[in-house]
Amino acid sequence: MADLTRKRGRRRPSPRKGHRTPFASAFEAYQARGWSNTLLLPPRKKTPPPRGFTGWGGKAVSEKQARRWAREQPSGNIALRPPQGVLGIDVDNYGDKRGGATLELWERELGPLPQTLVSTSRPLPSGIRWFGVPVGLGWQDVGDGVEVIHEGHRYAVTAPSWNPLSRTRYRWVHEASGETIPLEGLPRPSDLAQLPVVWIRALSCEAGSPAVVDAHAGEAWLGLLDDEPVCAKTCRLTEDACEELRGGGSRHHAMLVGSARLIRAAQDGHRGVRSALRILRDAFEHAARDRPTLGEFDRAVHGAIAKFTDGPPAARCWCPTPRKQRTRSEIPDRRDGSAARRRGAHRPRGVRPTASRREPLERDR
Ligand SMILES: [Zn+2]
Repeated sequence: MADLTRKRGRRRPSPRKGHRTPFASAFEAYQARGWSNTLLLPPRKKTPPPRGFTGWGGKAVSEKQARRWAREQPSGNIALRPPQGVLGIDVDNYGDKRGGATLELWERELGPLPQTLVSTSRPLPSGIRWFGVPVGLGWQDVGDGVEVIHEGHRYAVTAPSWNPLSRTRYRWVHEASGETIPLEGLPRPSDLAQLPVVWIRALSCEAGSPAVVDAHAGEAWLGLLDDEPVCAKTCRLTEDACEELRGGGSRHHAMLVGSARLIRAAQDGHRGVRSALRILRDAFEHAARDRPTLGEFDRAVHGAIAKFTDGPPAARCWCPTPRKQRTRSEIPDRRDGSAARRRGAHRPRGVRPTASRREPLERDR
């Protein structure tokens, strides 16, 4: 550290490495880290971007193209058009811009955003927060002083460009630690913090239908759940739902109610709901094997997540974990032994087969 200080002192007032040539000095580092759409801007300016490389349908920047730009205008500023599956939330909080207050308001409503990678030329909370998001969605701006940046809309001027308005350089910052990140240490787009599902629902405007939005958000939410262990409440709900499916009433209704109960339990922190949903799906498909089900189960689960969850699942519940888990071969109608055996081939981890021995749950009758 002392060494660095000495170096800085010795170099002053000459500019630091790369500052005279933001584009030429940085494009390779960005491309190597997976941020491949590096756009050339005029020296010390934020606009205009090169024609044909921005917006939906904009061309991807090839390495060859970037090299040509670096030769033609090495001192140009550099900007990024985010790759697919990445969303920037751009907070302007300076002068009369009140993006910080807007962000706070939304965080009170939707829950806090995870701390993530930020690109900025000003003090936080100003800056672009970067998140991983499902691909295939459209996005809307958050509100006063907070805009979104994605593959199809806008671009982000980034380090080591010069911001002519703040008269400072852009930099990458770890929001949690406040530390500046060198370009060589920049996270890859695929390693970014994921935007929480409630935020996805609030900010996405469907490129497809609401069902598409629910499906993307739903799968992201399910990804937060653990498979194992299955707790007592999850077990009981699964048994009840499977029994209801065998009961001769509406199978669709039984599946709808059962999956919604499981999703609500998962939100409350009850464990093993992913395994439970697989068991329920098998039971439903078995019960409804006389007709096509056409994704009914997935739609029900995604719909339940859209309706009944309001943030990541609670950390965990305190119910006991049953010593022995119910197995899927017991659940559907056992008269169809071949179907049960077939399903056993892709049984979830931890759910043991019971071809020879019945292993009832404690609560089982
Ligand atoms: Zn529980």
